Amino acid sequence: MALSQVIGRLLGVRAHEVDPGGGGASRVPHPVAAVVVGGGIAGMSAAVVLAERGVEVTVLEAAPTLGGRLGAWPETLADGSRQVNEHGFHAFFRQYYNWRNILRRVDPALTFLRPVPGYPVLSAEWPAEEFGRLPPAPPANLLTLLARSPSLRLRDLRGMDRDAALPLLAYHPARTYAEFDHATADDLLTSLRLPDRARAMLFEVFSHSFFNHEAEMSAAEMIAQFHFYLLGNPEGLAFDCPDEDYDTAIWRPLARHVQRHGGQVVTGVAATALHREPTGWRVATTEAAYRARHVVLAVNPPALATLVAASPALTGAAPELVAALPGYGRPGPPYAVARYWCDGDVEAGRAIFSGVSRQSTLDSVTLYHRLEHESRRWAERTGGSVIELHAYACEPEVPAEELAERMRAELTGLWPEAARLRVRELRARVEARAPAFTPGSHARRPGVRTDADGLYLAGDGIRTDFPSALMERAAATGIIAANHILRAEGGAAEPVRSVRPRGLLARP
Ligand SMILES: Cc1cc2nc3c(=O)[nH]c(=O)nc-3n(C[C@H](O)[C@H](O)[C@H](O)COP(=O)(O)OP(=O)(O)OC[C@H]3O[C@@H](n4cnc5c(N)ncnc54)[C@H](O)[C@@H]3O)c2cc1C
Repeated sequence: MALSQVIGRLLGVRAHEVDPGGGGASRVPHPVAAVVVGGGIAGMSAAVVLAERGVEVTVLEAAPTLGGRLGAWPETLADGSRQVNEHGFHAFFRQYYNWRNILRRVDPALTFLRPVPGYPVLSAEWPAEEFGRLPPAPPANLLTLLARSPSLRLRDLRGMDRDAALPLLAYHPARTYAEFDHATADDLLTSLRLPDRARAMLFEVFSHSFFNHEAEMSAAEMIAQFHFYLLGNPEGLAFDCPDEDYDTAIWRPLARHVQRHGGQVVTGVAATALHREPTGWRVATTEAAYRARHVVLAVNPPALATLVAASPALTGAAPELVAALPGYGRPGPPYAVARYWCDGDVEAGRAIFSGVSRQSTLDSVTLYHRLEHESRRWAERTGGSVIELHAYACEPEVPAEELAERMRAELTGLWPEAARLRVRELRARVEARAPAFTPGSHARRPGVRTDADGLYLAGDGIRTDFPSALMERAAATGIIAANHILRAEGGAAEPVRSVRPRGLLARP
């Protein structure tokens, strides 16, 4: 254990138990069926736990492949080679305790996850800032970042509004939202009176990673994410990534795990409506109907809004959920992902993953041929490279190819050698499926338990009363949904963990 973790531990910076789990039989004592709608992280996490406890679980996934926003699917390039394309590069942070717990089912030592060395933030205006290689735990990581950062000098710290910065260190699951949910992340950052460079290099790149514009994102949510990623966990900002594509490393093994425990995983079938029945629910789909005592809706926000609107039974059974959806169902801004198979490579010293600050479109760059086996093999065979560019919150109604071209042009401004690469193949997508965290949305954000008996929600937009975000929130809410079902049916619940529940300076 690093010294910073020992000090952090003394301050309570360690994994905390949200739910100890247990409290029932290792398998439910009677037959009970559950349908999970959505085969992304949230749905599959719920299904893993339910299947292991003997619940007859069926996962319905609309797409032909599992994974949702972490999905992966085969593509054939013009040169005839088979490549697995993905919904986008993902950083698997080490405080993702619940998601990692699910992944351990298929690889107990998580050998498929490899540490990604370094985490630079690039800018056209200023030298890169390095977010990796910090001591893992607070307060040492924060102090080292402040001492080391070329973007923030001592005189800048003296000039900033330190009182305005205190809420970042004092995250509280209730008070932070009561005091800051109506302000924007932009208001919060402006109130710090940081020099422009420090704001761009240390803060903006961070807020962009949540698929929301700062001017449209709740300040409370930003404080919560600072706590979750930097100031409340003993694992630090270091992260790992699979060295195989997500289908090979995660989705096929997880589907097999569910099936081995008696569950079913059905892809290419979309749920179209929910109907109430005396003993539970009937889920209508594009094919057969499925009956179950319990249903977990683990779909993205716009899909949840569509499903609930098509289910008149919910108006009577779940009026609070129905009322929450006009707001919740509106996703955040579109995000774009473009993967380029190129002739030639960028300089050898470029990092596998880099964040990008202050470009109008580009937010991150990933060198897939230095990360995943299949891309590496393609690059070795052709002398080329496989590069992925992301825009996390982009302008609406711009076609994917146009966004891809803008991102590529912006990359050449940061890495001049990228201008010499010839693009042999491009796959570009733009989508809007991420949850919005608009100011004032917290109080109306639906939680896992709905007001209808036997109906639960899971996903990265669903409220938790402990720190969590993105993939980890998806997994945690999936497990919590499964736990509600298990407790109702006499099965043992799965433990749920999170980081330090409050900021270092939060009053109890
Ligand atoms: C480009 C990109 C990069 C990202 N990077 C990171 C990262 O680095 N770290 C991180 O932690 N997170 C990252 N994320 C976020 C992460 O992908 C999500 O938080 C997570 O995948 C959400 O999982 P989910 O199960 O809640 O939702 P989803 O993945 O959206 O799954 C919902 C599923 O429901 C299915 N569905 C919808 N409607 C129906 C229906 N009617 N019937 C049946 N099925 C239906 C969908 O097809 C989908 O498979 C990134 C996301 C993107 C897009």
